[in-house]
Amino acid sequence: MGLSGFAGQAGAAARCEAGAVARKVVIDDRHGERYGDLRYGRRLLADKEVALTFDDGPRPGTTPAILATLREHCVRATFFMIGQRVDAHPEIARQVLEDGHTVGSHSWSHQLMPSLAPADQVADFDRGFASLEKALGQRPAPVFRFPQFKDTAVLLDHARARGVAVISTDISSEDWRGDAPDVTLARIFSRLDARGSGILILHDAQANTAKLLPALLEGLRARGYHVVQIVAR
Ligand SMILES: [Zn+2]
Repeated sequence: MGLSGFAGQAGAAARCEAGAVARKVVIDDRHGERYGDLRYGRRLLADKEVALTFDDGPRPGTTPAILATLREHCVRATFFMIGQRVDAHPEIARQVLEDGHTVGSHSWSHQLMPSLAPADQVADFDRGFASLEKALGQRPAPVFRFPQFKDTAVLLDHARARGVAVISTDISSEDWRGDAPDVTLARIFSRLDARGSGILILHDAQANTAKLLPALLEGLRARGYHVVQIVAR
């Protein structure tokens, strides 16, 4: 570890001591609640609050890099994981949990649910949570995000019956476009500043996202935003 590594550790300690650890936003998962402007028009966060969400992991390389940045900045996030990737990399899923983040499901196969027969939708949903439970050694958080936010009546009913809350997003980063970090950051900040708060979707499977995350967290701090963590009741 070089000098900058030590400086980063000292910075993290100072930030954590200064009370930077995220406020927890507790959601009600009892009745299949749905959150996120993009799909459900339900506001969860107060002004100047941001909840970071990371989809499509775990992925070697990018997910551990993102965990290191979050640790250094003393903030916590929500990860919506793909079950078949959890099966392949359970140790990374466990590390996310051990770091104190919220771990929820993003389906097992990441197929678009409206394209599947009802029984297959339910099987994929259940298998995704089962993969997480096996990897984590405990039940994951009862939160689910549909691939591409494409929900179905069958799975909304199933989620409600299982006591799982469905979370879409308030702000899309479009970090999957492969734009230069500055372009993605400008898009995020302009959308966030226009709204004043929000759940932000990012992807921990994207190398670009791992690269821009330090600047994103510095920018949020400079603009007076507080990063909060979504947790289940
Ligand atoms: Zn996804």
